[in-house]
Amino acid sequence: MFYLPQCAPQWYLRLETNCLPVEPTIIKNALFSWLKSVESPRDSLIRVCYSQMVKVHENIEHRYNWYRDFKKVLTKWDCHEILNYDPDPDDYVSIIKIIKEINSIVEKIKSSVQEEDIVKMNMSNLMSEYKSLKTHIFTEPFLNYDLDWGIIKLGVQIRSNIPRLTCNKRTVSLNGMELIYKSGKESLCTICYLRETEDAYHMLIRCTAYNYIRQTTFKKEILPSNKPEFTESIKNMSEEKLKSMVHFTRRAPLIRDMILENKNPYIY
Ligand SMILES: [Zn+2]
Repeated sequence: MFYLPQCAPQWYLRLETNCLPVEPTIIKNALFSWLKSVESPRDSLIRVCYSQMVKVHENIEHRYNWYRDFKKVLTKWDCHEILNYDPDPDDYVSIIKIIKEINSIVEKIKSSVQEEDIVKMNMSNLMSEYKSLKTHIFTEPFLNYDLDWGIIKLGVQIRSNIPRLTCNKRTVSLNGMELIYKSGKESLCTICYLRETEDAYHMLIRCTAYNYIRQTTFKKEILPSNKPEFTESIKNMSEEKLKSMVHFTRRAPLIRDMILENKNPYIY
């Protein structure tokens, strides 16, 4: 959807968009299905089947047992004890209590999976700078701007600083991608003399090959001059900033191709 490389971590997309993995939703639906079984009359078919499943769940000769698998999933989140409830179908108070407990289990799992994503973000070598950008969990406002999807997509790519940018329906893989998939020996920018890794930051802010378009594209007050300033500037992506980055990124790959084709990296 955002044309990120396959190695882009899922936690990045989840934190950027404030989406959760599917696990809490699946568990919630399964818990309400389970409740449907245990709140049914004891002589109903659904309840009889469920009771039989519980009875034989420890017998490994029965290869498939929904109750056994579900218990295993709930044990992972330390909430399997809810399965011990055996309410009377007419006891509404008990059933309401179980519903409340299901909701609190689901909330607990949701906050645990978000904590896991935050830990992964803090430990990441692939996107080591993202933790300076993302200080709170919310859907990044720029994702909902009334702008062309290509512009939003570019915003996500720039914030990931994974060296792959898409503009004008064309994706440019910068040399920094070598650091991700290969040895990294060819990760340096070959169209300027700075001998820096060619990633989004280098292209947008540092590379001398783009000095001219940078000056004509970015307004002085929003042009960062070093990495901390760049990180700060993309922390809150305004429409104006996003649009100027798009203007720059539409023109920069053409200049890059031109210099690379001439095989003279210092001529521009
Ligand atoms: Zn360069």
